[in-house]
Amino acid sequence: MKDNTVLISGATRGIGRAIAVELAGEGANISFNYLKSGREAAELENEIKNLGANAKSFQADIKDFQAVRSWVDKTKELFGRIDIVINNAGVIKDKALALMESDDWREVINTNLEGTFNLTRAAIVTLMKQKSGVVINITSVSGIVGLPRQTNYSASKAGIIGFTKSLAKEVAPYNIRVNAIAPGFIETDMLKVLTEEYKNQILKQIPLNRLGRPREVAKMVKFLVSDDAGYITGQTIAIDGGMSMM
Ligand code: NAP
Repeated sequence: MKDNTVLISGATRGIGRAIAVELAGEGANISFNYLKSGREAAELENEIKNLGANAKSFQADIKDFQAVRSWVDKTKELFGRIDIVINNAGVIKDKALALMESDDWREVINTNLEGTFNLTRAAIVTLMKQKSGVVINITSVSGIVGLPRQTNYSASKAGIIGFTKSLAKEVAPYNIRVNAIAPGFIETDMLKVLTEEYKNQILKQIPLNRLGRPREVAKMVKFLVSDDAGYITGQTIAIDGGMSMM
């Protein structure tokens, strides 16, 4: 992966951060965006540089296509190429549908699903011209089995699975692979809003009886972007302690 350039959305915390560190450890140039966490972004840049890899952070709202395009263009200027695109930025706004406001719906769909469109659309022509590349979309077990109070989130994540399959067929002739990873419940800030009672209920639905770790997702990303996964495209791989097979 040395000298490959990776775009990662939302790498200041949680799963995105673990992916950035994992791929930097392989020698890749890491370009990532964030929304609010400027201090964490600077810390991650330093951590990656200490690993001996190149890193650059950009403040860009993933919902804003022009801002995302500018991030992608500046990355190309800086590193000369783009090889890997990781659509990771995501939010939850859980509510029963009966209480859900249009804003709760739009915020989640526009960040998770339209954000995936924005970054992939801004980068895909570069990959097509190179006739090589890998796209990884972070979906969720919620997009596979559906979870209550997550109609917005489940819809956005199920949409990402359809997006993955459609794009995989479309760009396979350009030697570009597109896969999705569906984490189950992973210990990050995203779970902080869940009550202990709900977490205990969830644990009962996880055969391995524990939450996942960001690093466990990052390891799968590392495999899927490598040449060892050269014959895998259009797939959604669950990393969920067995939850989605129930
Ligand atoms: P997290 O800890 O809450 O981190 C979210 C990241 O996304 C942060 O870096 C955040 O940037 C960024 N972000 C959010 N909105 C953004 C926006 N509008 N523009 C740019 N960046 C934005 O989340 P996580 O748990 O690591 O989740 C990462 C991905 O995995 C998400 O797609 C999530 O849906 C998915 N996932 C997570 C779990 C889980 O259990 N944790 C399970 C299944 C799927 P700031 O720091 O600047 O806000």
